[in-house]
Amino acid sequence: MRAGAAHRAGRPDTGAEPEGAGSELFRELARMVATLAEIQGLRSFALPYPGLAQRALDRTVLHCLDIGETPPRSLPELLEWCRTKPAGDPLFAVPASLVTPGATLVHPVGRMPTRSCLEVASHGPDGGVAAHARALLGDLEARCGTGERYRQCRSFLARHPVVHRQDRFGPGWSRAVWSRVKDLYGPLPESLLVDGDFLRCPSCGLPALPGDRDVPVPVSPTTDADIWCEGEECPRDDPPELIRDPEQTWILRRPLRTFLALPYRTEEAALDALDRAGIDHDPLPGPLSAHRLRDSGPATVDIQVYDRLQPALLAAHLTDSAPLADRTLVVVPDALAGRVGYRKAFADALPALLRDRLMLTTPVDLGPDLSRARREEKDDA
Ligand SMILES: [Zn+2]
Repeated sequence: MRAGAAHRAGRPDTGAEPEGAGSELFRELARMVATLAEIQGLRSFALPYPGLAQRALDRTVLHCLDIGETPPRSLPELLEWCRTKPAGDPLFAVPASLVTPGATLVHPVGRMPTRSCLEVASHGPDGGVAAHARALLGDLEARCGTGERYRQCRSFLARHPVVHRQDRFGPGWSRAVWSRVKDLYGPLPESLLVDGDFLRCPSCGLPALPGDRDVPVPVSPTTDADIWCEGEECPRDDPPELIRDPEQTWILRRPLRTFLALPYRTEEAALDALDRAGIDHDPLPGPLSAHRLRDSGPATVDIQVYDRLQPALLAAHLTDSAPLADRTLVVVPDALAGRVGYRKAFADALPALLRDRLMLTTPVDLGPDLSRARREEKDDA
């Protein structure tokens, strides 16, 4: 991932370990996995391979020869490596200060790109998949004309990552909104079907798949631990919902499923927390999940909401995105912030100059954190 490091050259040193050729290969493979999954799924490959896959395979072979490892013989074998060899494997040796060592690019159960894969593929100057999501939202905002219309469309997309024909006759359906957003949906890809049926996670609302695609779809109300969903972190108390007529179903594009629909739950919880604390706020224009707080005195205070599994890559994204408010509270799901090492990895990856301006918090801590920040400001004054 040298490109990202070079991109940040000239900034105060973040103390991260130097990134080697293995890290750079890991990111190239992340981009390959993300792109292949979009264009044809990760399961069937015939020669000749798509150009980017052949290049990634060639590069992996060269890297293996460099480090004295037996190279993969085919694209399916390389994809199996992406499923079984995590970031910390000697093959990649991605520094733990950049990506959690256990993260793989292909999910071991779902055999689809992991969330970490899309986050790694978004790291670097052109912003990859996450930047694609922002560009799609930027276009939508321009098409909508007014902020009000855009916010309606954005919340529709976030709440409806999957749309079934029947939804169009349900309460709350708006033909005006649908006409503005429908080109951000597509038919369900073959790779998300099991025996011609589609499964949806009841928790995150995103696609689900059984680990073993050759066994019948689990329709019984028993739970199945061997289930993958795109949210990855969901409880498995309830079985996935079964949608039998997938040809009547449309799905939001993957960049928006991951970088809009997933964090939206946290965004709603954060705004609820602000409302409960009596703190007024206004949405900021633009594709980010960002809101400016009112009555914050002379300083500007924003919240930005993310649901990212990789804290150091989130810190790198925030470091690269400008301009920030005087103080920005970065809200992530409670379960993530509570993870061992998450907060530290985020803080360690920030340049020293930004550590006072960016504060990691959660919907639960947001109210208390803001009160404390205001007290500190008064004390300073
Ligand atoms: Zn889920």
